[in-house]
Amino acid sequence: MARTPRIVVVGSANTDLQFMSDAVPRGGETMFGTGFDLGFGGKGANQAVAASLCGADVEMVAAVGDDLLGAETVRNFTSIGVRTSGVRVIPGTSTGAALILVTPDGENRIIVAKGANDLLRPADVDAAAPLLAGADMVLLQFEVPLETVYHTIRLAKAHEVRCMVNPAPALPADMSVLGLADYLILNETEAEVVTGKPVRSEADVDACVTALLDTGLHRVILTLGRRGAVLASCSGRVHVPAFEVSPVDTTGAGDAFIGSLAVFLNEGMSDEEAVTRANLYAALSTTRTGTQKSFVKRQWFESEFARRRPGVSPKAPQ
Ligand code: ADP
Repeated sequence: MARTPRIVVVGSANTDLQFMSDAVPRGGETMFGTGFDLGFGGKGANQAVAASLCGADVEMVAAVGDDLLGAETVRNFTSIGVRTSGVRVIPGTSTGAALILVTPDGENRIIVAKGANDLLRPADVDAAAPLLAGADMVLLQFEVPLETVYHTIRLAKAHEVRCMVNPAPALPADMSVLGLADYLILNETEAEVVTGKPVRSEADVDACVTALLDTGLHRVILTLGRRGAVLASCSGRVHVPAFEVSPVDTTGAGDAFIGSLAVFLNEGMSDEEAVTRANLYAALSTTRTGTQKSFVKRQWFESEFARRRPGVSPKAPQ
């Protein structure tokens, strides 16, 4: 059986407050909504949860406020098995929160208050250095200050720990530091912002991947929604097709992809095999509503993978 991968996520934790309503209130107006849902989110937390559900030993390095949502965020991690010794509670600060207004027209309106996520500093990562040094891989996104992201990449490299960076949400980035990452994983929108090139046609995808590899990156994975993903390195590139599903909510698909991919890779699978499996793990998440709530357990994933890939023996869940 493969060794349990040890993964550290340095990133955001949010609470998503989702209100369903038939209309958007005007200034000064109060109206009754049609429903409410509270979910745990933030790209960092989502990727940590996906990796944990896939069987990894996961440590979260994050910041939350000393409020109700911060305590619940830590409780949620613990209940899933994500370790929280690297989660700092910052007094007098609010936990990151997203207000999501869902109306029947399908146009979600979202306000994100970054709260404590914006206060995750390089010093917090230094305090968690022993965790990083003992990890197989560190996962990073762009929902915490970029100086913290860059510092973590350098620290991981100093400890010879592999690094996977997801430049989301899309922000122009310092490629001289991102280029140190072992894997850069991004969707089409993020690829457009990072490279400054359009990513619409197949030729665009190719040009974008070439531009990213030219910066010195070792491996680039461009996710393409229902078209799957392109895996590229200096030794070649391959399009790994998606699995066919009937999606009901694609929120968090990218996080499901990245969290599961990190586990598959650190169990020793080849890049292509790991991307194939991450495509299915992410596709399954689109068949259920919610973000973390839509991520499936490893055992469920393996039986679905075996059903869709006859002849491939299921891996034992860790
Ligand atoms: P993000 O969620 O960051 O926008 P994508 O939309 O590219 O990222 O989705 C990430 C991955 O999720 C894809 O590479 C694919 O594996 C899977 N996925 C997303 N949407 C679908 C879909 N409609 N059908 C099958 N797989 C999907």
